[in-house]
Amino acid sequence: MFRKLFITLTLLALTACSVPASSSTPGGLPVVATTSLIGDVARQIGGDSVSVSVLLPPGTDPHSYEPRPQDVAILTDADLVLVNGFDLEETLEPLFENAVKVIVVSDGIEALPFEGKHEGEDEHSLDPHVWQDPNNVIVWAHNIADAFAQADPAHAEQYAANAEAYIAELTALDAWIIAQVARIPQANRKIVTDHTAFGYFTARYGFEQVGAVIPSLSSGASPSAQELAALEDAIRSSGVKAIFVGSTVSPDLSRRVADDTGVRLVMLHTGSLSGPGGGAESYLEFMRYNVNAMVEALR
Ligand SMILES: [Zn+2]
Repeated sequence: MFRKLFITLTLLALTACSVPASSSTPGGLPVVATTSLIGDVARQIGGDSVSVSVLLPPGTDPHSYEPRPQDVAILTDADLVLVNGFDLEETLEPLFENAVKVIVVSDGIEALPFEGKHEGEDEHSLDPHVWQDPNNVIVWAHNIADAFAQADPAHAEQYAANAEAYIAELTALDAWIIAQVARIPQANRKIVTDHTAFGYFTARYGFEQVGAVIPSLSSGASPSAQELAALEDAIRSSGVKAIFVGSTVSPDLSRRVADDTGVRLVMLHTGSLSGPGGGAESYLEFMRYNVNAMVEALR
């Protein structure tokens, strides 16, 4: 009996080896996404045929992430590594050399130039926070579905169908945001944020970015005393009603500016999904959470 089992197992192993590489890997195509936002979109499109790991734990600030020793192995073991691009993963870039294949999910998105004048900031830098406009996440969905189909052609139709269904949800999300923003009086559609993370959102939905506590694309920079004083002046003269602070950075400085100027401090999700129970466990929830908080603070 044992001998028979052994032969059966051997045959199974041989069969498994002779299956073309395009057929499903047990547990699914191994994929790593850098951020939880990309990871969610990858899971929506991959379904059961893809096994997605996310490198950055929920609540991690992508700009200042310090790679752990095990991240090298995580990146090396994946068939595909999905990255945002536009320098969001600056600290991880040296590790990407070990990856089998890196897919920049934002490929094809027309990046917005950064228009701040923060000291030391490269004036040619591009804004990496593309996910703040669902239309850019539609580009992600296409790129991810194409990458999955190429790595695993046996499930190409499934990936295309999943992408199509998810894109319909993103299109509905965009329409919902437009309807929600319409509830905010035009004069109140002004925001101040902890760092300049909402460029695509303000461009798409007609908000004015009055300023940012950290006038930089990265949350890792520090404002000068002069920059802070100028921001407080701008808040007072514009009549902006709230400062929006991301969940992944320290709110201390933003709180000081809010106290000085007498405006509200409101928490939003910027660069990461929330952990379980945080109200932003998927990209769709993340956007709805932020928009609801903005409407509540500004209308
Ligand atoms: Zn950011």
